[in-house]
Amino acid sequence: MYEGAIQDLIDELGRLPGVGPKSAQRIAFHVLSADPADVNRLATALRKVKELVRFCTICFNVAESEQCRICRDVRRTNEVLCVVEEPKDVVAIERTGEFRGRYHVLGGAINPLEGVGPDQLRIRELLLRLGTGEVQELILATDPNTEGEATATYLALMVKPMGIKVTRLASGLPVGGDLEYADEITLGRAFEGRRAI
Ligand SMILES: [Zn+2]
Repeated sequence: MYEGAIQDLIDELGRLPGVGPKSAQRIAFHVLSADPADVNRLATALRKVKELVRFCTICFNVAESEQCRICRDVRRTNEVLCVVEEPKDVVAIERTGEFRGRYHVLGGAINPLEGVGPDQLRIRELLLRLGTGEVQELILATDPNTEGEATATYLALMVKPMGIKVTRLASGLPVGGDLEYADEITLGRAFEGRRAI
């Protein structure tokens, strides 16, 4: 192991998701030899993301003000609401250009093994939004894996008695994976071909 600051950096980088010890070491030495201006930009970006970015008070997408860009957009319809697990799923669906409604970001999926139940997700907030009666269709766009399916099934049971149409993305998405792994065309088709459940 190294001494002092370089080892501290390797340790910190190694705690990031998807960064193994070898990558952490490679990035740390890259930083060490990089131009100080580039390193400052990175440090500023890291600090700013914590200072400025928060969660939209309506949909829980990432935002830099009370409400995110999508919730502020008056051209979008309030009648269709798309439920996703994470902000990155909003980005994936926006890229397809197929959707002009609103989103609700749950903050994860039901996963009993990791202690994530309905109370840990923003399901109560979702039900409050649906309570206004404006939403005609709820699209369940949780990931096509076990946790995503369990979450969709749970939400369908909760929401259907409210008289709201509930749909799920069509099959054809890579099973077991994340929504973000699907290319735009596949995701766009799954969106178009969504079915009532
Ligand atoms: Zn929002």
